[in-house]
Amino acid sequence: MEMNGDHHWNFQSNEHLNKSSISVRGTLNLICSHLNTDDPRPIVAFGRADPSAYPSFRTSPLIVESLVSAVQSYQFNSYPSTHGVLSARRALAEYFSNSLPYQLSPDEVFLTIGCTQAIEIVISVLARPGANILLPRPAFPQYESRAAFGRLEVRNFDLIPEKGWEVDLNAVEALADNNTVAIVIINPNNPCGSVYTYQHLKEIAETARKLGIFVISDEVYAHMAFGNKPFVPMGVFGSIAPVLTLGSLSKKWSVPGWRLGWILITDPNGILEKHGIIENIKNYLDITPDPPSCVQGAIPQILAKTSDEFVSGLLDLLRINADILYEKINEIPCLTCPNKPEGAMLAMVKLNLEQLEGISDDVDFCSKLVKEESVLVLPGVAVGMKNWLRFSFGMERSSIEDGVARLKAFYQRHAKANNHIPSS
Ligand SMILES: *Cc1c(COP(=O)(O)O)cnc(C)c1O
Repeated sequence: MEMNGDHHWNFQSNEHLNKSSISVRGTLNLICSHLNTDDPRPIVAFGRADPSAYPSFRTSPLIVESLVSAVQSYQFNSYPSTHGVLSARRALAEYFSNSLPYQLSPDEVFLTIGCTQAIEIVISVLARPGANILLPRPAFPQYESRAAFGRLEVRNFDLIPEKGWEVDLNAVEALADNNTVAIVIINPNNPCGSVYTYQHLKEIAETARKLGIFVISDEVYAHMAFGNKPFVPMGVFGSIAPVLTLGSLSKKWSVPGWRLGWILITDPNGILEKHGIIENIKNYLDITPDPPSCVQGAIPQILAKTSDEFVSGLLDLLRINADILYEKINEIPCLTCPNKPEGAMLAMVKLNLEQLEGISDDVDFCSKLVKEESVLVLPGVAVGMKNWLRFSFGMERSSIEDGVARLKAFYQRHAKANNHIPSS
């Protein structure tokens, strides 16, 4: 009998996919493997952008009741229709039309399994041989990984920290060619916490028009702007260049586990329809799983019951947390946060390695930090920026204060000789 190891099997792993698969979850799992389980202190998880388990960020009971009553109605026990339950699509169309200069129809709303599946769908339908897509750097890594799986070529343009993380539009023009199909923007931004102005968004739309491409606008943090700039949906400029707007219940409603997202066609001139993109999306939806019917069925009530107080309470919390994090981080010499976050729940922080002894890069910093202080931070490589760090401030204020105090202690232990922390 032959030994198992000698037998010839035809299959082997796809190294291309393994190498190009970057994710927040994968990176955090790697960093967490260094956690010292003997440390009695609770872990401070700056790494993950999921505050739903913290008491201050718990969703409203009215939102929970909406789901309960959808389940109790017995009306949502069947398979949903491929594009989503009509009442839910109608409610979302109404809800988002309020901030657009034109009316969305329910046929311009598709329901997905979180914003993650919305990304999967739009990237997959664009992936034809030879095509390329423009992605921001830094970015939410799901776009790049999805593109790699679909063999869609990625070209990165920079977001500029000195300009409040605005898109480098000159770079966008230089990168694009006749095979470029779309540009992705994320607003309010993960990982930078920035919010784009009306003017900047208009310039992005005009650039897209000039290049003959459309805009994919990830607005999973829609309306979560707590600084001086109001949130403006990219769909406002849909008549300049077509826009696909992606979103979900995960962030603003603080129920990421409910897995309900959407794609909005914000293209009043019907350009995407004319070019077969909408048909592609519909075909893709026919062969993918759908979000649970009962969560879809709860949407009209969820939207109706989302009070202004619920949203303003959330924004107040995030504003205070952003202020604290920004101020305290900048007191630590090895860290610089160039821009105070104005939206979402994240901040990019530069790691000043020259201030540290024996730390080689961002991954090394995060690994040692979690080991010594039980503080979890996402290394910048996971979002495309080596030797930066991404912090989430969606947590209790006391945890942020505890976490930055531990970061300070970590710095003091690893500071280059002669560096001392300024006493406060
Ligand atoms: C969280 C997040 C997503 C994923 O959203 P889900 O609804 O949880 O799938 C997509 N894009 C960005 C920018 C995010 O921050």
